Amino acid sequence: MTDQPTWDDAAYLELVRKACFVCELLAGNPDYPHHVVYRDEHAAVFLNRFPSMHGHLLVTPTKHREHVVTDFELDEYLAVQAIVHKAGKALTETVPTERLYVLSLGSQQGNRHVHWHLAPLPPDTPYEEQQFAAFQTMTRLNDEAGHALAARLRHKLN
Ligand SMILES: [Zn+2]
Repeated sequence: MTDQPTWDDAAYLELVRKACFVCELLAGNPDYPHHVVYRDEHAAVFLNRFPSMHGHLLVTPTKHREHVVTDFELDEYLAVQAIVHKAGKALTETVPTERLYVLSLGSQQGNRHVHWHLAPLPPDTPYEEQQFAAFQTMTRLNDEAGHALAARLRHKLN
């Protein structure tokens, strides 16, 4: 694990409440830099800057959508889920994964733009540190390690 445990709640809250961080990063706003590994007309995939696990990805629709099913027509939803599948496969082929966690969280008071977490549980994680416990720790992505991982994922996804 190379990600640094320098979590700062206040700075994170300010960032996600100031603007839609997904729309800002997709628009190329340099205040919201991310390692984007895939993007098409339906969805974008990028490394979580605050990973709970090494290789923690986020998949998000390119259009601003908030509610995980009701903001989507079925075709649009399935197109995004196809990217969840594609990114999840690339991720588990790249990062040692005992089990891939896929979930959508978010908040109407902060990061409203719906996104799916793809989080690879490392092999041999003790049972009591799996599932919800695995998301209790957030770190700040090490930029150099993120750069290298992003390059490997981009190669698989594009
Ligand atoms: Zn947005």
